[in-house]
Parts: sequence; structure tokens; C-alpha cells
Amino acid sequence: MQQNPIRKIVIVGGGTAGWMAAAPLAQRMGKRCEIVLVESPDIGTIGVGEATLPTIRFYNAALQLDHADFIKKTQASFKLGIEFKDWGHVGNRFFHGFGDFGPPVNGIQAHHYWLRLARSFDHMPALENWSTASIMARENKFAMPSDAQPGVTDAYSFGYHFDAGLYAAFLRDYAMARGAKRVEGTITSVDQHPETGFVTAVRLADGRTLDGDLFIDCSGFRGLLIEGALKAGYDDWSEHLPCNSALAVPCARVEPLTPYTRSTAKGAGWLWRIPLQHRTGNGHVYSDAFTTDDKARQDLLDGLDGAALDEPRQLRFVTGKRKKSWVKNVVAIGLSAGFVEPLESTSISLIETAVGTLIEQFPDRDFRPELADEFNRIIGSRYESIRDFIVMHYKLTKRDDTEFWRYCANMTIPDSLAHQIELFRETGRVAILDRDSFLLPSFVSMLVGLGVEPKRYDPFVDDVDMRQLHGHFAGLRDLIVQTVAKMPSHSAYLEKNAKAG
Ligand code: FAD
Repeated sequence: MQQNPIRKIVIVGGGTAGWMAAAPLAQRMGKRCEIVLVESPDIGTIGVGEATLPTIRFYNAALQLDHADFIKKTQASFKLGIEFKDWGHVGNRFFHGFGDFGPPVNGIQAHHYWLRLARSFDHMPALENWSTASIMARENKFAMPSDAQPGVTDAYSFGYHFDAGLYAAFLRDYAMARGAKRVEGTITSVDQHPETGFVTAVRLADGRTLDGDLFIDCSGFRGLLIEGALKAGYDDWSEHLPCNSALAVPCARVEPLTPYTRSTAKGAGWLWRIPLQHRTGNGHVYSDAFTTDDKARQDLLDGLDGAALDEPRQLRFVTGKRKKSWVKNVVAIGLSAGFVEPLESTSISLIETAVGTLIEQFPDRDFRPELADEFNRIIGSRYESIRDFIVMHYKLTKRDDTEFWRYCANMTIPDSLAHQIELFRETGRVAILDRDSFLLPSFVSMLVGLGVEPKRYDPFVDDVDMRQLHGHFAGLRDLIVQTVAKMPSHSAYLEKNAKAG
């Protein structure tokens, strides 16, 4: 069958999403297809989005980015997970690390043994003491995972914190070196085919017109093409995730440089703390229905551990997703496709998924609707599984000190999440609804950290001698502690690595 290859791609928007889309497309098709990215000098980028998941490493690796160069140019630091403070109840503290809690025994995941041991032995250390990532975080250490100490150094993973503007610039240089073109201008209108409704061109304020075959909408919350022109519609999830506002402010870097993000729950939301090499990013995500902007600003400034480097910047959002993010010849990627608040740093990973899925389902000029259907199925399920995971953080609270937390504890939740919580509460099992999203250790970290105590554990656990098992895990814990003690500090590791580039 004859193919009608795409001849020209127009990417609307030059934020993190726009350049993350441009780079791999230029890498693959920069020589045979025209790729043009248009960004407005008058409409800035959102300028936040600095914590990532380990999946970013697959994205960077596919581009064959030089690791040391990337660390240096984006002022990146390493991220082993998230420390949660005052989530669940005031005074609570736990770590959601990237990695598991030791290798399975007889094919059964370690947390079942922990559940059993915790019933048999007094003063059983918290589950996170079996997590290498958690112990590294506590000690502010970092080294690359390897097979050096099986069961320890292959048991954790990492992502990065980076400066969002510098990362976009890094990818811009990469994409432009491979043929992508950049146009500065503000789009004022969109041309559509009178019969099909396909977008044919975008018009700029200065009179220029950019035509194309495929349009990638990375225009941020405004969704210039996907909503403005194509009216895709939006699923509003505010009922389950009431935060709708954020204030962001950078502050001076302080020591030690922590290899993790911190999230501290507040009366009507939470504070983020993201350490970079050159500064610390901070923000307050909150619901303006339950607090005032002034109070939120004060909570943010009171929580800083370095001198503020700027005035707090206000952002508003509506949690949810586009009903369809691929409509006709427009594919929305980034904030134009939807937004789930940044509690688990999932937005950039959703961009990675969308870009990867677009490449997998890449159309020709026939734009077979099956491709869009498949793209929308994959992206829709990813957004929903992330939504459920984040809602869980709020729903499981035992806090009743503010109206906000009382609302969260009593709100209705999606059936899919109710099933996940009840399965764990009753049996210690975890239902993974999307295998490409958060997996068992993440669910166990959050469920246990938020105080869900399973009534049962895997019955096969009882086949193993408890004393032997206790010795096995105590030995594993000692090995982790000894291995971590020999690792360099996060700052020392970074300095060596950044210099290597
Ligand atoms: P934007 O950055 O808004 O870029 C939009 C682009 O479109 C700009 O270049 C603009 O010039 C262009 N544009 C718009 N209109 C026009 C027009 N008319 N003509 C021409 N160009 C136009 N994600 C994470 O993964 N981790 C985090 O820790 C994280 N924290 C966040 C905290 C907050 C409070 C918020 C709101 C988001 C956070 N995110 C996080 C999400 C993350 O910031 C975004 O996913 C990411 O920055 C991508 O944004 P974007 O490129 O889609 O949009």
C-alpha cells in the first residue's frame, strides 16, 4: 500500500514538553521531515517542573545524551525518592524510595515477610529500613546502582532534579543540531480545513503563517489547538484532587544537598522542596477553597531553609485531563493534555510516555483513526492510574485538624482506587492496574507510610522459619548500612561527576 509520509511537523510551544517532543523527533526524522517549533516571546513557559521519575533516564538514554554534560548543563542533582512529612498524621515521616525492599524470598515479595515479622518480633524496624534508597537518602549519600553488592546496589533506582529552563535549552540545542527549526512568534489564529476540521496552519501576530501535516500542541494549560480549535473537552478531577493553586519560589542552596524531594503536608495542601546544584526550588500546592493566597504564601516563606531568591510566583490549574489528547492531526503533549498535581513528579514522565507513544503510533498523512484511538487509550489509562495513586495520598489521611483534610478523608474516590486500598488492607496484596506506571514498592511505601495495616499476609510466608527469616533480613539490613556507609556524599558524587564532563 502506498504511504503518505508526514512532510512537516509543527510543534506549538517551547516549554519542557515542546522541546522534549522536538528532540527525539529530530533525532529520528530531522533529515527527511521538516520540524518547526514555534514559541512565543510574550507568553512564557510555566517555569516549574524540576523533579522527575527514574524513567527520565530511558528518555535521556534514547537520545544518547552525555550524562556528565547533562548533569552540568541542567544543574541537576540526583533523586532517590520523596520524603513525606506530616502526611497521614501530623508528626508522621516516611520515605517513598525508588526501588524495592529487598529481593523476594521463595518468590514472595519482601513486604509480606515484614508484615509477618512485625507480628512476631517487638521493635521491628520500619519497612523502609529494608530499602537501600531510603537509607542512602537518610545519610545523604549517592552512588550509581550496580551489581557490586547483589541485593543492595541493584535494588534501587534514581531520577533527577533539574532546572526546567536549562533542560529545555539543553534539548533545544540537541534538536536544532539535528535539523529542527525554531520560530519566535505568537499564534493568534488557527486555520482548519472547512470539511475535515483538520488543522492546516497557524497564523502568527506578525502576519506569518506556518502550515504543516502534523501539529503537536505543547502550548501549556491553554491548549491552543487541542481545545481552542478542536474542542477536545476536559475531564475535571477537582472533586478527588481539590488543590488548584500553587506558589513557587527559589531559595539559596543549603547543605547537605539532599538526594531526594521533600513533601510536607500543610493545612490545605503541601510544600515541595527540590534541591538543585545552584538553588533549591520550593512551592506550595494548595486549594484556594480552604485557605487564602496570603496564608499559603506565608506558609511557603516560613518553610524555606535558605534565603528567598525571588518573590513567590502564583499559578492556577484545574486537575484533570483532555478527553482525547490526539484529535484529527493534533496531538497534545504536556500541560495542554492535562495536569495531575506534582505530588509524585509525574508530569514530565507523562510527557515521556506521550512522546514515546506518538513515535510508536506515528501516523502518515492518512491519519488512520485507529492510531489516535490507541494513543488515547494508552495515555488515558496512564493519567487515570496516576490520578488514583495521587488521590490515595489524600484519602488515607487520618488528619482532621483542618477543613481541607476532613474533606479529603470523606471524599468519594474512583472504584479502581477503592479496590486497591481494600485489597491491601484485607490481604497485603497490591493491585497494579497499569504496569507501566507506579509498581508494587511504590504502593507499599505509600500504603504502609500512610498507616494502612493489612489484616493478612501471603499465607505461603508461614512455610518459612521465622527466626531464620529474621536473621536473613537483619543481615540484609546490615549489608545495606555497610554498603551505604562506603558511598560518597551526594555533593561529593555530583562534584566529581559534573567535573568529569
Ligand atoms: P509551558 O511550560 O507552559 O509551555 C508552553 C509553551 O507554549 C511556551 O513556550 C509558550 O510560549 C507557548 N505558547 C503558548 N501560547 C502560545 C501562542 N499563542 N503562540 C506561540 N506560543 C505559545 N512536572 C514534573 O514532572 N515534576 C515536577 O516537579 C513538577 N512540578 C510542577 C509544579 C507546578 C506548580 C505545576 C503547575 C506543574 C509542575 N510540573 C511538574 C509540570 C511541569 O511544569 C510541566 O509538565 C512541564 O513544564 C511542561 O509544560 P509545557 O511545556 O506543557 O507548558
